Amino acid sequence: MDLKEMDPQIALKLLEGHKDVISPLQEEREKFYRGQTCPGCGGNAFTKTGDSRLLFRHQEPLPRYLLQCDNCDCVFDPHTGIQLTMGNRAKAYVPTIPILEGPD
Ligand SMILES: [Zn+2]
Repeated sequence: MDLKEMDPQIALKLLEGHKDVISPLQEEREKFYRGQTCPGCGGNAFTKTGDSRLLFRHQEPLPRYLLQCDNCDCVFDPHTGIQLTMGNRAKAYVPTIPILEGPD
């Protein structure tokens, strides 16, 4: 199921005269995402991804994103703590001993 965005002009017209209660919640949620650490490598740079079947929950105005670590590519749900894919830790760490290639 793909989500289709509403025309911004129509959305603005519908919201006229109503108090903005979404922006403070959005800022709090972004702070929550920024405070996460990767369960695989301990990194803190993520790309938000979403499964349209799981994005929206009953009684929650904001979508719940999954986070994909930019270092090791693992995917986890920061809301439940469940790690969905393991990723590749070898991508996250720079070896302390450089890998030398032989003359052959
Ligand atoms: Zn990671």
